[in-house]
Amino acid sequence: MREPSKNVADILVQMGRPDHKEGRHVNMPIELGSTNVFDTLEAFETARDARYVSGTMYYGRYGNAATFKLEETLATLENADAVTLTSSGVASITLTLMAFVTPGAHLLVADHVYGNTRAFCEGVLTRMGVSIEYFDPMIGADITKLIRETTCAIMFEAPGSGTFEVPDIPAIAKAARAAGIPTILDSTWATPIFCQPITLGVDIIVASMSKYLSGHSDCMMGMIASTHIYAETIRKTVMAVGDKTGGQEVFLALRGLRTLKMRMEYFDKAGREMARWLARQPQVKTVLHPALETCPGHENWLRDFNGASGLFSVVFHSCHDDQIRQFVDSLHHFGIGVSWGGYESLVLPVVPQRSAGTWAEDGQLVRFNIGLEDLDSLKADLSAALPFLNTASE
Ligand SMILES: *Cc1c(COP(=O)(O)O)cnc(C)c1O
Repeated sequence: MREPSKNVADILVQMGRPDHKEGRHVNMPIELGSTNVFDTLEAFETARDARYVSGTMYYGRYGNAATFKLEETLATLENADAVTLTSSGVASITLTLMAFVTPGAHLLVADHVYGNTRAFCEGVLTRMGVSIEYFDPMIGADITKLIRETTCAIMFEAPGSGTFEVPDIPAIAKAARAAGIPTILDSTWATPIFCQPITLGVDIIVASMSKYLSGHSDCMMGMIASTHIYAETIRKTVMAVGDKTGGQEVFLALRGLRTLKMRMEYFDKAGREMARWLARQPQVKTVLHPALETCPGHENWLRDFNGASGLFSVVFHSCHDDQIRQFVDSLHHFGIGVSWGGYESLVLPVVPQRSAGTWAEDGQLVRFNIGLEDLDSLKADLSAALPFLNTASE
């Protein structure tokens, strides 16, 4: 077991900055470049031999000074041995899975994963001869019973996309380690501020940096953080595919990270307040927010997380789809759109997909992203829209 990273606030301020030089700027510049040039063939060859090591200046696609600074900062925050940046959160997931699957392999995937993870498994991996088995995200230590000789990895998420079940991360990680297979956890929701999965025994963390990590809805990026044993395989796969991050995005991600801790602390407070307020409204059947007892896996969240982000779902009592449309369309402060983790509030109806079982709740599921607006404005907005959901009185 590893110790969590120390002094997160100091790391966020001090890391990812220019090297010491009198009169330096505070921030890394937007770094653009394809070819790197060397004075001798020997120096070039040395760089080429070390090109899969973060920090080696070799060619633009492998990274530059700013990307290496960002990777180093994220690795420290995640308590990981290495981080490789990717062009999006989806790319971090697909490239990591590609690093471990082989034809005929068996891949265990939690039933509540992000929609594109499922789409990649079904649309691409099955075509490559990988057999996908979905499992109940609340399975815990019983995951052992599903692990086969051919199982190549376990892909899961904490909490689940849209439905927010919090799995028993240490139990799943322990079962996988005992079987010698890697666990891959999508930890986009928590960020390293609220959970450090590697400390809980997970081998590989994937995350969308388009959400809270960059934090302003202006940057698409992903990251893969891992322990030593898997780092080189992952980085070689990412480089072999040719994925890369842009200089402007790296600049924006570094800028966003500076305020990550204070943003997350605010979203924790604001998200809980809005979730509890919604839970009291008569149109609401239940609220799926990991910090509320009504959320499956709440006890796992209490044990393994030290905060909750501002993204959660509400199950409304069954009503006509038209009523949900009117409710959503009449909100002024909540934008309608995918993604989340920026400064603005969002709303989106969600239809959970399930293969291992059926999703238990009946009623309409709607996901909210709480932004930085005034909470009374958000409540007033919702109060005006909720009557659209009143079920017809007989
Ligand atoms: C948004 C999201 C992704 C995908 O990230 P992009 O940066 O949009 O590609 C992956 N996992 C989860 C849990 C997400 O919410």
